[in-house]
Amino acid sequence: MQGRLKRATLAATLLCTLLIPAVGSLADPQDELQENRNQLEQLRDRIEARSEQSRSLRGEIDRLSADITDLQIAINALDARVATIETDIRTVQARVDRTAKRIASVERLATQQAVDLYKSGTTDTLDVLFQATSLTDLNERIELLGVAAQENTDELIEYGRLKVLIERDNRELLAKQNELSATLADKSELNDQLSADRTELAARLNQVTTKLEEDKRHEGDLLAESRDIQRRIEAAQAAAAEEAAAEAARAAEAARAAEAAEAAEAAEAAEAAESCGGAQAAESAQDQTSSSTGGPNPPPTTSTPPVVTTGGSSQGFIWPLNGPVTSPYGPRWGGMHTGIDIDGVTGQPIVAAKAGRVILAGAYSAYGNAVTLDHGGGISTLYGHMSAFNTSNGSSVSQGQVIGYVGCTGSCTGDHLHFEVRVNGNPVDPMAYLP
Ligand SMILES: [Zn+2]
Repeated sequence: MQGRLKRATLAATLLCTLLIPAVGSLADPQDELQENRNQLEQLRDRIEARSEQSRSLRGEIDRLSADITDLQIAINALDARVATIETDIRTVQARVDRTAKRIASVERLATQQAVDLYKSGTTDTLDVLFQATSLTDLNERIELLGVAAQENTDELIEYGRLKVLIERDNRELLAKQNELSATLADKSELNDQLSADRTELAARLNQVTTKLEEDKRHEGDLLAESRDIQRRIEAAQAAAAEEAAAEAARAAEAARAAEAAEAAEAAEAAEAAESCGGAQAAESAQDQTSSSTGGPNPPPTTSTPPVVTTGGSSQGFIWPLNGPVTSPYGPRWGGMHTGIDIDGVTGQPIVAAKAGRVILAGAYSAYGNAVTLDHGGGISTLYGHMSAFNTSNGSSVSQGQVIGYVGCTGSCTGDHLHFEVRVNGNPVDPMAYLP
C-alpha cells in the first residue's frame, strides 16, 4: 500500500548514493590535483628562472676566467719586473759598496789635505768642494778653483766626487726599493682581488646549484604527489561506478520485492474479505486514491441507458455493465484477481446480472461501495467500487435492474466495475457465466 513512497525513498537513496561521491570525496582530489598542477607550474617557472640565473652566472665565471688569465699574465709581468728591480738593486748596491770602499781608502789623505787647506786659510776651497750637489756641479767648481788651487787637493777632490756618487747611488737604491715594494703591493692586491672574485662567484654558483637541486627534488615530490592524486581519483571513480551499479541492482531488486509485497498484500486482503463471509476478492492494490465512506450516495451523473444485453447466458446471466474487460480473472502481480474489471465512467448504471436478493449494499474494505446479490443455489455476484447505490440491503432485485453506479471507491486507480461470481463463497471466473 506504500509502493509509491517506497519507490520515492529508493530513488532518493539511489540519487544520494550516486551524487555523494561525485560532490564529496571526488571533488577533493580534483581540487587537490588542480592545486598541485598550479604548484608544479610555478615551480617549473622558478626552475627555469634559476637555470637561466645559473647559466648567466656560469657565463660570468667564464668571462672572469679570461680576466683571471689576463691578470695572471700581468702578475707574471710584475714578477719579471720585480726580478729586474732586484737585479738593479744588487748592481747599485755593489756600486755603493765599491764607492764606500774607495771613500774609506781616500778618506785619510783627503782629511789631511782638508786640514792643510784649513791651516793655509783657504777654507773657501773646502766649501766649494763640499757644497757641490752633482758631479757636473763639482767639476765646474773645481775648474773655477784654478790649477793652483788643485795642487795638493787631488785626494780631497776625489773624496768629494765619491761622496756625490754614493749619494746618487743611494737615492737610486732607495727609488728601486720603493719601486720593488710598490710592485709587490700591486701584485698582492691583484692576487687578493682574483681570490675574492673566485670565492664570491663559486659561492653564488654553489647557492644557485643548491637551490636548483632543491627545486628539482621538490618537482619530483610534486610529480609523485600528482600521480598519487590521479590514482586516487581513478580509484574513487571506479568505486563510485561500482557502487552505482550495485545500488541500481539493489534498487531493481527492492522494486521487485515491493511489487511482490503489494501482490501478497492484495492476496491477503482477498483472503480477509473471504473470511468475513463476503464473496469478494482483492482488487488492484497499487494505489489508494479514494476510500469508501458509506456516506450519502452521489446522484447518477449520466442518464445513459442501462446494459444493452447481448442476451442471457446458459446460466441465465447478463453483463452488469457495457464495456471492455480491462483485467481478467486469474493471477495478477503474484496474487489472485478474483473477478473481472469492466471499464466504465463515474455515474454509469450497473445492473443486476441476475435476479436475486441484496445481501450487502455498503462500504466494504478495498472494494469501496459494494453490492452483493444472492442468486440462490450457492451462486452470488459482487459489484465493487461503486460511486453510489441504487438498492439497499435486503431488497430483492430483478435481472437488469439498476443497483448502483460506476465509481472508484476503495482501492482503485480509475473508474471501473469490479465484478465477481462466487460459488459457495469461492470466486470463479465470471466469464464462464456471462454470455
Ligand atoms: Zn477487479
